[in-house]
Amino acid sequence: MGAGFSGLHLLHRLRGDGYSVRVLESAPEVGGTWYWNRYPGARCDVESVDYSYSWDGDLQQEWEWTEKYPAQRDILAYLSHVADRFDLRKDVELETTVTGATWDESTSRWSVRTEDGRAYAAQFLVMAVGCLSVPKEVDLPGLEHFGGQVLRTWNWPEDAELAGHDVCVIGTGSTGAQVVPALAEVVARLTVVQRTPNFVIPTRNRPLAEGELEAVKAEYPERRRRNAGHSAGVFRSDNPKNAMEVDAAERQATFQERWEGGGINFLGSFADLMFDQAANDAICSFVREKIGEIVEDQKVAELLKPDSYPLGAKRPVVATDYYETFNRPNVSLVDVRENPLEAFTESGLALANGEQHDFDTLVLATGFDAFTGAFTKMEIRGRDGVLLRDVWQEEGPKTFLGLSSAGFPNMLMPANAGSPSVLSNMVTSIEQHVSWIADLLAEMRARGLRTVEAEPQAQEKWVEHVEEVAHMTLWPNGDSGSWYRGANIAGKPQLFMPYAAGVVEYGKALEKSAKSGYEGFVLA
Ligand code: FAD
Ligand code: NAP
Repeated sequence: MGAGFSGLHLLHRLRGDGYSVRVLESAPEVGGTWYWNRYPGARCDVESVDYSYSWDGDLQQEWEWTEKYPAQRDILAYLSHVADRFDLRKDVELETTVTGATWDESTSRWSVRTEDGRAYAAQFLVMAVGCLSVPKEVDLPGLEHFGGQVLRTWNWPEDAELAGHDVCVIGTGSTGAQVVPALAEVVARLTVVQRTPNFVIPTRNRPLAEGELEAVKAEYPERRRRNAGHSAGVFRSDNPKNAMEVDAAERQATFQERWEGGGINFLGSFADLMFDQAANDAICSFVREKIGEIVEDQKVAELLKPDSYPLGAKRPVVATDYYETFNRPNVSLVDVRENPLEAFTESGLALANGEQHDFDTLVLATGFDAFTGAFTKMEIRGRDGVLLRDVWQEEGPKTFLGLSSAGFPNMLMPANAGSPSVLSNMVTSIEQHVSWIADLLAEMRARGLRTVEAEPQAQEKWVEHVEEVAHMTLWPNGDSGSWYRGANIAGKPQLFMPYAAGVVEYGKALEKSAKSGYEGFVLA
């Protein structure tokens, strides 16, 4: 299921290995994340030359990236090209939403149902359904009373025309921080509703310089090896020094240099930023100072300064001209932390203190039911009819190595909860999983084995390990309300879902299991 980076790569690899493969995809086009998130300003924060497949040398030589960080439309064009170039479309069924799947013990196969009543049978179900593919349900009081138009950044309408409108954006995460500056340039008035401020790092995107792409292409295999050898799945020239080992002047100069360079390299300023509270406090202070320098109205600047969680505990936000946008005369900030949103009215919203803000268009950048959302939406029944939704809503997404959940044989889950996924360049993590899954299936075929599933004890240990590693860092600290641990959704079980040790350590765990005959999995 799913025709994003994961599903397309799986299709190509498994079809090439001689399997019969069908990809079922809800959207009318391939691309996954990059089809659905078409809002103005949507852009990737991993460099284009790294946020792309490495598995075909000709493809990476042929494709012409034009900017340092690719815009949504460029990634979508790239994935569409991949689908054409490798003749993938003939095995992808678009506009096909899977509503459920049931394990049939007697045949050792899954039967899969779609919204429009079609049925499929498959030995393996590979859930390439995405970590961030189901928007969070709207939880805004009285939204039904609002008389204007409501748009979501997810599945943004192609024909949205907002020039001259009075617009309100709710949400200041990665999506909000991208859409706000883009909309500010075209709308008449923009009201930004912020609950929890974010640390926003400047992207400093630019067109690729002459010869830059050619230089990358000349050393692509080496570059891909370096990416795979970095915990984040993308090479960063991380500073090996600890922040508190150097004096204040060196600390400031290092932060300043990386702030000017832009992008996620800023997080590599020092080695201990996610381990030592004092180090993290230093980088937080640096960003707060920058906000104070950039934003002219100091009352607004104060509201924009995050102070309740370590930088990084929420997914770091990378955006262009975010803080600068609040200096525009047509932009205002409404803080709903101290003064909560009471209700929507016909013409806008009312705050608890009686303030009223009017607008004709509301844009929701309110986030996702991350990791588990796409799974729990479906009725997936494993052994003995057990419903995955019940198990995961009770205990969270328990898996071994993030790949398989006990009781759900032959259901494999690339680049999702329990693996580095969103804490890495996702394309690197996806490639790591696709090749591991392909090797597993080849081994099963060679040994005449029909089923694979997580061994319950190995699963318990893995989930504990993922949590333990997260607690060695500052990731779980503070009042971030992060989707990393399900805290953005009321009632969702809270556990740290991505594996914080990164792709290199994780790769060792994958290899260890495979080399020992898939230790931690039951093969039958
Ligand atoms: P997706 O691209 O999410 O694809 C999953 C597909 O499964 C979707 O098309 C969905 O329609 C389909 N699907 C789900 N359920 C069903 C069903 N029941 N039936 C049929 N089809 C179904 N990652 C980075 O590394 N760097 C970034 O800068 C970055 N930026 C991002 C920006 C945004 C706005 C978002 C939302 C995510 C971003 N990510 C980024 C994460 C991004 O999701 C991954 O990098 C990557 O695109 C995931 O690919 P995927 O194929 O695993 O999942
Ligand atoms: P998000 O990080 O979860 O942010 C959602 C925002 O909506 C938060 O500011 C949240 O406030 C606010 N919100 C939600 N419900 C609200 C409510 N009822 N009232 C007021 N505010 C509310 O979601 P996202 O911005 O879509 O990003 C999700 C992830 O997608 C990112 O973390 C990143 O991994 C990926 N992404 C990446 C990029 C990129 O630059 N490459 C771009 C977009 C997305 P609180 O914080 O207070 O809950």
